[in-house]
Amino acid sequence: MAEKAKDGGAQVFLNTPVATMHHSTDGVVVETKGGQKISAERVIIAMGSKDRSTIAHNPPLDSEYTAWSSGWPQFISGKFHIVYPEATWRTKTTWCNISLGVCCPTSTQLGAFMDVSEPSGKPGIIMVLSKPEAVNRQTMEDIARFAFDVKEPSIEYHEKVWGHAADNTTVHTPYTHTCVGAPPPGQLSKYGKGWRNAIGRVHWAGSDTADEWMFYINGAIQSGQRAASEVKAALG
Ligand SMILES: Cc1cc2nc3c(=O)[nH]c(=O)nc-3n(C[C@H](O)[C@H](O)[C@H](O)COP(=O)(O)OP(=O)(O)OC[C@H]3O[C@@H](n4cnc5c(N)ncnc54)[C@H](O)[C@@H]3O)c2cc1C
Repeated sequence: MAEKAKDGGAQVFLNTPVATMHHSTDGVVVETKGGQKISAERVIIAMGSKDRSTIAHNPPLDSEYTAWSSGWPQFISGKFHIVYPEATWRTKTTWCNISLGVCCPTSTQLGAFMDVSEPSGKPGIIMVLSKPEAVNRQTMEDIARFAFDVKEPSIEYHEKVWGHAADNTTVHTPYTHTCVGAPPPGQLSKYGKGWRNAIGRVHWAGSDTADEWMFYINGAIQSGQRAASEVKAALG
């Protein structure tokens, strides 16, 4: 994505956390943690609601915006993958073969196990979205053997964990506080003003601000399109 943006003439700054957003009637100055200052006519902030707390605002945001962010839950979750030479389970009748080769033969307390292999089935990859304390390579191999009838040894295991513990005692990804999650009841009615209303020259995107498929990648794309049209209209 960064490469595509560069091809289109954009300057892309990776691994450059934003520390403060300075608002004025003339424009916005985005100040990074490293002290770099970037001026813009308009800014779109595209991130999770909880992650918004990583950026300070000058002048500070209204209370609805800070309450919107702090009211959002945060938790830890991961994706765990076990890899086999081939998705042998696809030929077995216990599977529900849905288009794209995504299958859910069983749902347990660990989460829903999915076939995320390429359409060719080589290699065969089983994935679960779960809590890290519940899963390791051995768990994945056991599930593959008992639920997927896999007879061969696995060839690889990969895991990636995201999020912060609710009490912040464990932090896996400092700039991603949580996984797919929803706000508590009452959040929208009490703090809805802080959801996605632009503040002067600063606009909000990110999956949490989507009309449909909030918390999923579809929502992230839809919200980006909405925020881009807000900016386009404002620039005239
Ligand atoms: C474990 C896990 C599994 C998921 N599985 C699925 C799935 O199977 N299907 C699906 O559709 N969705 C899934 N999602 C959700 C999907 O990834 C998100 O809905 C989507 O990525 C949200 O996009 P976004 O642009 O709103 O935010 P993000 O993708 O979170 O992007 C926000 C970016 O802002 C950056 N950032 C944060 N703070 C700062 C700062 N101060 N300065 C600069 N940058 C900052 C972050 O590092 C991040 O790169 C999953 C999410 C997780 C965590």
